[in-house]
Amino acid sequence: MKLKLLKNYPILIITISLLSSSCQNSSGSNSRPINSNEVVHYSGLDKNTHKNLQSQNVLAALKNGNSKFVNSIYTSRDHSLNERSNLSKQYPSATILSCFDSRIPVEDIFSQGMGDLLVLRVGGNIVNQDILGSMEYGAEEFGSKLIVVLGHKNCTSIRNAIDKEKDGNVSFLTYKILPAVEKSKRVFGPKTNQNAEYVNNVIKANVENSISEILQKSPKLKNLYTKGEIDIVGAIYDMRSGQVEFL
Ligand SMILES: [Zn+2]
Repeated sequence: MKLKLLKNYPILIITISLLSSSCQNSSGSNSRPINSNEVVHYSGLDKNTHKNLQSQNVLAALKNGNSKFVNSIYTSRDHSLNERSNLSKQYPSATILSCFDSRIPVEDIFSQGMGDLLVLRVGGNIVNQDILGSMEYGAEEFGSKLIVVLGHKNCTSIRNAIDKEKDGNVSFLTYKILPAVEKSKRVFGPKTNQNAEYVNNVIKANVENSISEILQKSPKLKNLYTKGEIDIVGAIYDMRSGQVEFL
């Protein structure tokens, strides 16, 4: 599987063995300065590779990247002027709709670098016209093959919606998340933020609602999805384990 992924992703890796030796575990027992010859030079996908990319390959790459993140296998990337100059054009493989939570480094949790992902961020990973416009642009103009709606555990926006928070413009986020709150009312136990099962159900329902809204309100994305040219999936990030669970 790794060889297949590497074939699809022409990442210029100086040497695989050096990359693996640059890893360190969470305890830091292998921690040491990284040598310059261990840095990954990455110039993004080329046009032809990107054109032939399939959504299932993209999904597999994200899962593989998250596995590296969970296991603290870090990659040092070259962000120098020379590397940035290679990205005069972009061929991102996926679009991620994430919550704006500062504890979610989106590229990092999928072990992706510059030019790999189109990242949209808004409290509660809700969908609105600006988000849909960006997704359509990403799919049509940049050829993004996969849309991931990424919710996460311990989400403040979800907690605010459960508490019916309506202070200022937060009320708009609450309004967008309330259908997920309503959808979860049959979960056993108190309908409060003290009930973890209930809160997690609202988080999952909110991701599902965002996907439904994408398909209902964007005929362009619905058409690409129906033709199998893109895929749309939900996922939930656990910031304690680092694990992204795809739904
Ligand atoms: Zn959040």
